[in-house]
Amino acid sequence: MPGTELFGAEERKEVNDVMETGVLFRYGHDAQRNNHWKAKDFEAEVRKITGAKYAHAMSSGSTAIAAALAASGIGTGDEVIVPPFTFIASVEAVLFIGALPVFAEIDETLCLSAEGIEKAITPKTKGICLVHMCGGMADMDAIMAVVKKHNLILVEDAGQAFAASYKGTYTGLFGTAGSYSFDFFKIATAGEGGVFVTNDEEVYKKADVYSDHGHDHIGSNRGMENHPFLGFNYRISELHAAVALAQTRKVPGIKEKNLYNKKFLQNILSKTEGIGFAKLADPSGDSATFLNILMPTPEIAKNTVAEMNVAGVGGFNYWFTNMYHFVNQWDHLKNLKTISKLPVQVLGAPQDYNNLQLPKSQEVVGRLISFGVRCTWTEAEMTTLAEKISAAAVKAMKPVNA
Ligand SMILES: *Cc1c(COP(=O)(O)O)cnc(C)c1O
Repeated sequence: MPGTELFGAEERKEVNDVMETGVLFRYGHDAQRNNHWKAKDFEAEVRKITGAKYAHAMSSGSTAIAAALAASGIGTGDEVIVPPFTFIASVEAVLFIGALPVFAEIDETLCLSAEGIEKAITPKTKGICLVHMCGGMADMDAIMAVVKKHNLILVEDAGQAFAASYKGTYTGLFGTAGSYSFDFFKIATAGEGGVFVTNDEEVYKKADVYSDHGHDHIGSNRGMENHPFLGFNYRISELHAAVALAQTRKVPGIKEKNLYNKKFLQNILSKTEGIGFAKLADPSGDSATFLNILMPTPEIAKNTVAEMNVAGVGGFNYWFTNMYHFVNQWDHLKNLKTISKLPVQVLGAPQDYNNLQLPKSQEVVGRLISFGVRCTWTEAEMTTLAEKISAAAVKAMKPVNA
C-alpha cells in the first residue's frame, strides 16, 4: 500500500490547514475557512491525473460506486452484471441500491471479459458494474463493443485502479460513471474516502445532489438550497480530503516507482519456467500496485502458497481463499443473509447464487497469487523476495515422486 509508505510533512500541512480554521465541513463557512477547500482541491487533483471532466469526493469507494450506479439510472429490479472476483463492495453497492447482481466470468485480465458479459446478458440486463482489479484494467475495446451492441449502462468500479489507464483513457471514464477508493489499502489513502468521476455534466449533478441529502449546492444559504432529488449522506470531511489531497499529489511519483519495482521483480521471476503474470489489456496503463502472478494450475498455486508460508514470505494475497474478494467464500451473499429485507429478497435473485457456474473464474483466481508492490522497496529487498518466490514455485512444481 504505497500511499501509507509516504505519510509525511505534506499530509500534516494539509490537515493543519483544516484544524487551524476549524472548518471540517466541505461546504460553506466561507469567512472562517481562510480559503481552504480541501475536498475541492482533492477533486481538482483527481481530475488532473485522470482527465475526468467531473470528480466528486465522497466518504468511501463504496459510497462512490453506489452513487455511480444510482446517477447512471440503475435502481430497484435492474439486473447488473458483476464479477465474482472483486472486493465485495461492488456487489453490495448493486444490492443496496435495489438492483440484482448477475455474476459473469472474468479472464486472465482479472476483470470481466467481453465474452463473459455477453453470455450473462438477459432481457432484464440494465448495466454492468465492471471492476478494474489489482491495479490493472479490463479489455476495454472488446467490452465497449458489447456495451454498445446491447445498449447497456456501463459503471466502473476502479477502486483498485486509480491512475490506471487503457489506450490513454483512465479507468472510470469509459462508461457513464466510475469510482475510485482512497481507503487505507489503496495507492493513495485518506484513511477513508472515495471519488466519483464522470464526463457527463448531468450525471455529475445527480451524484453531487445524491451524496448530500439532495442539496443542489447553489447559493450561499445551505438551509435554503433547493433539493431536486432525495439523497443521503455520502460526504467526505475536510480532514479526510486534506490527507487525500497530499496523497494524490504523490501518485504520479508512486506509480513511476511501482512500475520500476514491478518490472524489476518480473525480470527475475520470469526466469523460472511456469511463473506467468496476469494479462494487462494495456501494459503501458498499469498502475502497478500489484504484482499478479499466474501459476500454471490452481494446484501448483496452492502448493506455491504453502511453500511461501514455510519460507516465511509475506505480503501476498491468495485471493481464491480470501473471505472478501472471491465469491467462493461469500456464503452471506449466497444465502442472502441480511439484517433487514433487500429488494433482491422480494423480487427474487436472477441466478441461483449457491450454484454459480463460473469455471473460468475459478481457474484464473485459483492460479493467482498477488503481491502488493511497495514503492519504498530496495533492489536488494526485491532480489531476495523474487528469489524466495521462485524457490517456492520450483518446489511447488516438482513432481511428487521426483
Ligand atoms: C477498496 C475497494 C472498494 C471499496 O472502497 P472503500 O473505500 O473501502 O469503500 C470497492 N471496490 C474495489 C474493487 C475495491 O478494491
